[in-house]
Formats: sequence, structure tokens, C-alpha cells
Amino acid sequence: MGSYSENDLSCKDFMKASVASTASTAKETSLYYQEESETSSEEDVDSDVSCFDEEDVPWITWFCSQKGNEFFCEVDDDYILDDFNLSGLRSLFKYYDYALDLILDAESSHDDSFTYEKNSEVESEAEMLYGLIHVRYISTSKGMSAMLEKYRNYDFGRCPRVHCNKQRCLPVGQSDIPRTSTVKIYCPKCEDVYAPQSRHQDTYFGTTFPNLFMMTYEHLKPQKANRNYVPRAYGFKIRKD
Ligand SMILES: [Zn+2]
Repeated sequence: MGSYSENDLSCKDFMKASVASTASTAKETSLYYQEESETSSEEDVDSDVSCFDEEDVPWITWFCSQKGNEFFCEVDDDYILDDFNLSGLRSLFKYYDYALDLILDAESSHDDSFTYEKNSEVESEAEMLYGLIHVRYISTSKGMSAMLEKYRNYDFGRCPRVHCNKQRCLPVGQSDIPRTSTVKIYCPKCEDVYAPQSRHQDTYFGTTFPNLFMMTYEHLKPQKANRNYVPRAYGFKIRKD
């Protein structure tokens, strides 16, 4: 599929997302009870499948499937439609209503009257608004279980530390102020943070999420890492003093 390579990644990612959402019920059941297998999590969706027309894809699905946005889960429309969940966000945006319409795929009255620049601004505000809604959503039980599924699928990557044995990681921010630093990954085994392998656009994960997640799903908390690297030279431990 040489001529197709430019779209390959986003297309594949999107297919992954679609497969995940359509098969979510079956997956949920099996994920809880199945023995975890490293190989199955790395299976790629066959790139032979043709990509859907982007026009038909809901904005949220499209956004979450973009390269760099893989850490985002899909926020339920119902959550976004409840004004209470969005309180305090309106004042942060110039085109709040338009951005919200875009996220929810609602018809907007501005469609023909906005210039290209204004439309770009609306799009960029929609992305930021989604990030701010998302960080609230993942602290709810529904959002948390959507993130649990992603965690089970290794969507947030694995700990690069050898003695952590490819432990699954969780996304974490280094600040609670959005857009101040890029997202990092937190390993619940060695309790340290690392830079994710691929570059991520999302900067909307606060400092709380992985800790709240591990408190909620306490049974998933791995045993603390008790092995450390010991520096040696010619087989002898190196004295520290
Ligand atoms: Zn680790």
C-alpha cells in the first residue's frame, strides 16, 4: 500500500478506535478475566481495511484517532451536553459555542460566514475545550472505566525501566495548569514518571489522574519494584563511598 502510506497511521489508528468501540462489550468482559498477553495487545489492525470518509466520522472519534492524541478517551456526548459539567469553561474561549458545536457535530449557523482564519481558531478552541472537558470526564466513574480499557490495552505505553518488566503506565501531567508541559507517563510499579515514546499533543492531564485511578482500581496496583540496577565492574559490586 505504498501510495497510501501518508494516511496509513491515522487511518489505522482510527480503525483501532472503531474496532475498540464496536467491540467494547466483548472486550470489557474478556479484559477483566483473561490472562494478560503481551502479544495480543500489540496486534495491529489489518491495514488492508479501507478508511472511512472523515466526513462521516464524529468529531470526537476523529480527534481521538489523530496522531499524538492517543491518550484521550472518547467523552460521552451526554456528559458534554450537561451544562453543569462544563461550568467555568465558557469564559476561557472566544468562540465557545461554535467550538462546542464542532465537538458535538451540531449544525452551526456560522458555517458560511466565517473566514478560513476564524474557522481555524474555532477548531483550535474546540481541541482545547475537549482537552479541558476530558480532564474532568476522566475523574468520573464512566471516564475512569474508559481509561481503564485504554490502560488494559497498553494505550499509554509501558515503563522503560528494565526491572519494571514492561509494566503498563498511565498518563500524568506535571502541572494542573493546562498547556504548560507535555504529558508524561507514570509507572505505578516504580512510581516514577517518564517521557512517552511518541510525541503527544495533549497537555491536559493534570497531576491527579494516575493516583486517583490507582485508588479506584486498587486491585490493579502492581507490587512495588524491589529490584534496582546494581553497578558492577568485572563482576564486582562498586562501592558507593
Ligand atoms: Zn516502572
